[in-house]
Amino acid sequence: MTTVTAAQAAYVVAALLFILSLAGLSQHRTSRSGVVWGITGMVIALAATIGLASRSITATGLVLIAVATALGAGIGLWRARVVEMTGMPELIAIMHSLVGLAAVFVGWNGYLDVDAELTGSLLGIHHAEVFIGVFIGAVTFTGSVVAYLKLAARIDSRPLTLPGKHILNIGALVAFVGLTIAFVTRPGMGLLIAVTVVALALGAHLVASIGGGDMPVVVSMLNSYSGWAAAASGFLLANDLLIVTGALVGSSGAYLSYIMCKAMNRSFLSVIAGGFGTPAEDGEHGEQGEHREIDAEETAALLRDATSVIIAPGYGMAVAQAQYPVAELARRLRERGVEVRFGIHPVAGRLPGHMNVLLAEANVPYDIVLEMDEINDDFPATSVVLVIGANDTVNPAAIDNPASPIAGMPVLHVWEAGQVVVFKRSMAVGYAGVQNPLFFRENTRMLFGDAKQRVEDILRGLDALDTPTQAMVTTSR
Ligand code: NDP
Repeated sequence: MTTVTAAQAAYVVAALLFILSLAGLSQHRTSRSGVVWGITGMVIALAATIGLASRSITATGLVLIAVATALGAGIGLWRARVVEMTGMPELIAIMHSLVGLAAVFVGWNGYLDVDAELTGSLLGIHHAEVFIGVFIGAVTFTGSVVAYLKLAARIDSRPLTLPGKHILNIGALVAFVGLTIAFVTRPGMGLLIAVTVVALALGAHLVASIGGGDMPVVVSMLNSYSGWAAAASGFLLANDLLIVTGALVGSSGAYLSYIMCKAMNRSFLSVIAGGFGTPAEDGEHGEQGEHREIDAEETAALLRDATSVIIAPGYGMAVAQAQYPVAELARRLRERGVEVRFGIHPVAGRLPGHMNVLLAEANVPYDIVLEMDEINDDFPATSVVLVIGANDTVNPAAIDNPASPIAGMPVLHVWEAGQVVVFKRSMAVGYAGVQNPLFFRENTRMLFGDAKQRVEDILRGLDALDTPTQAMVTTSR
């Protein structure tokens, strides 16, 4: 078997492993094997690609590839080991930016190093591939960098609203089409520089003009863009596996964006076009009445007397790493015969499935972890809801206030329960930057402090309620 045939066969195996990986990752139970399929596919793909390259490059080239692979693998391993769960979206955004940058370099290389055998319409197709690859790559690169800066709170997460922002976006697309036609007919460095600059500006503008609460869609959308950027590079490098893998990432990212749009009640097209999300009015930030507080002992007593409890976790649970005591609390209440369930909003936390991962880590049984649509009708019949570090995802303004920046976003109807206890450290707003009227409702009590510490206090409170004090024992004698 020649090296080329062996590499092609390896590519088919790797592509199948990537498909198996995606299938595995779609369910909790199979996600570990999904990761293993993915790693195996990637190792095979890398080995086949290096094997193919080794036929036509010098020893120095091979050493350079080995150094780059070792460096990349080292940095990747280190980042993956140290990253906090709450920092995952930033890491993903920065990874996407590297895919975008690589596509720009591959595109530029495709222009500078044209295969001499390409002539006529084949050369025209090649130039179109160069242009499309550079365009998608550059949009992905700056879009991901801006997303990273927003997610890491290095820049304001509020949407940038330049006058005529839609015209700017459409203008950039029209310029891209015009430049592509010009480049295919008369290729030149000036045109390539122009499209790179237009795409870099478009990527930055698209993401900068999307509001904080809508960032989940941006993250999955950039995931999709990075896939298409890789597929474009695959065409330029005539690498079938890169085309297949890029298409898998691009289409699964697009589908995830669609699911996220549905969860946020946003139109898919408006997200792709960028620039939705309106800044909060000043009044949105201020307090909207008086809030009432509760302490951990009182919450323990409330839970002891409850018959059904729903826990609505959010980003704050991840920050506090409160999932372990929360799981313990659920277990203890269930032992007492209380019906305990978790209500998971599709965009709770900072990445799709964030809460599910944390709860699985803490061994919460899957069958008591329900999606928003499965549990939303059950709140009126629930005695107590514990909102642990969630804010935007339980904000009634999304339903009651059409002027709110999160208007129309489906939320967990926690306020319909008998009593709501909100765990957070202050009256600060959530990620979308809007105040939450839930905190000022009659049946809501605020339990201030770090979520992990407060849940641990409640566990101690339950212990104390279980153990009659010496005084009580003496009296009863
Ligand atoms: P939010 O981000 O709206 O609110 C989190 C709350 O947790 C804050 O109000 C904060 O209040 C509290 N908190 C933070 N740290 C702690 C702590 N240690 N202990 C107790 N409370 C704490 O959370 P949600 O999960 O409800 O909403 C997610 C938001 O993130 C949505 O707007 C969503 O659109 C956005 N988003 C989601 C992504 C995804 O893919 N899921 C990606 C990007 C953005 P305080 O500071 O007072 O403690």
